[in-house]
Amino acid sequence: MFNEERRFEQPIRWGMVGGGRGSQIGYSHRNAAQRDGLFKLVAGAFDLDPARCQEFGINIGLEEQRCYPNYQAMFEAEAQREDGIQAVSIATPNSTHYEICKAALKAGLHVVCEKPITFTSAEAEELKTLAAEKQRVIGVMYGYTGFPMIHQAREMVARGDLGDIRVVNMQFAHGFHNEAYEEKEPGLKWRVSPEVSGPTYVIGDIGTHAFYLCEMITGMQVSRLSCMRQSFIPSRAPLEDNAHVMMEFEGGAVGTLWASAVNAGSMHQQKIRVVGSKASIEWWDEHPNQLRYEIQGEAPRILDRGMGYLYQDNEGVAASHIGGGHAEGYFESWANLYHRFALVFNATERNDHATVDNVWIPGIDAGINGVRLCEKCVESADNHSAWVNF
Ligand code: NAD
Repeated sequence: MFNEERRFEQPIRWGMVGGGRGSQIGYSHRNAAQRDGLFKLVAGAFDLDPARCQEFGINIGLEEQRCYPNYQAMFEAEAQREDGIQAVSIATPNSTHYEICKAALKAGLHVVCEKPITFTSAEAEELKTLAAEKQRVIGVMYGYTGFPMIHQAREMVARGDLGDIRVVNMQFAHGFHNEAYEEKEPGLKWRVSPEVSGPTYVIGDIGTHAFYLCEMITGMQVSRLSCMRQSFIPSRAPLEDNAHVMMEFEGGAVGTLWASAVNAGSMHQQKIRVVGSKASIEWWDEHPNQLRYEIQGEAPRILDRGMGYLYQDNEGVAASHIGGGHAEGYFESWANLYHRFALVFNATERNDHATVDNVWIPGIDAGINGVRLCEKCVESADNHSAWVNF
């Protein structure tokens, strides 16, 4: 069980870039990182507006002098302090991730970076090399992979409960942007602007989440894909607000991914269905405590989080903060991930290779593959949905 029991003595001194007042995702990071007491927020460059950063930082309990006007000033000043930050989370719009991540690694910090981590896979590979040189870790915030039932799904696939994997259906298709709300919502405006969002909108913004669930649960690698993408709100072109991807995996399995922001009426519809030769499993993020398990020829079963019939010897399955029957959700999933990031960051500093190797996290390779998904989808879609090697 992941809970407030300290797994090491002093919490990791932690800073944030971005995630300021009113941002969509800043609170999720702060809530998750500090949930089990393994990180302590001590510094921040939360906002493009230095005054707002300062006011917000003080409001959430930071010392005034540790609320910085920008990330460069934060990394420089914190490096001079004996009690300076050891890790940083980057929760800014996509175009800034690469430079901030590079500066953080050069400053000797462990990093949790938002997805998509860069615009190009070459940049992401460069970050991987730099992290290795500096002996620092990059975690990528695929926030849905902390759910215990996702780890149960992964364990079931690994143990062969489904037989050979044949088909994976992935989707993350909400309806929140079925009209051109970007004029009123700054958080949407940058998402549909290529210079800030990167080469894609929905593929990078939400498709990467569903895609990573597939990678994580099945361990399968895509060999090639074909993508078509549309901008149903024409002013969003060339960035898509809807995309369909067909995939072939190494080993013969096939899959589809639907990413959309124009699925009118839908809340999230982030679902994954993994079909094997004997049975299938299905998970839906709006009901994250349940995993549907269907064996051919038998009545379908609903597996519930926190129950003894799950693979409790898997730490991810056993990561519940409360027993079965109570509803856990998004924040617990994020907290489970930050708990894992803390264990890996701490172990890295102690040269505890066994822990580093054994605690699963979405790391830099997960980030690289997400960026590659965006690149390859654009390459295909811009070439009449031609099949392209992954
Ligand atoms: P947002 O526009 O709501 O907020 C961005 C914040 O970053 C603002 O506070 C802004 O002032 C600040 N900022 C921008 N540039 C900065 C800079 N150079 N230095 C310091 N602060 C800066 O954006 P958001 O929706 O919170 O998205 C941020 C990132 O998180 C994006 O990469 C997005 O893809 C990602 N995201 C991930 C998830 C997830 O589930 N993992 C969910 C939502 C967003």
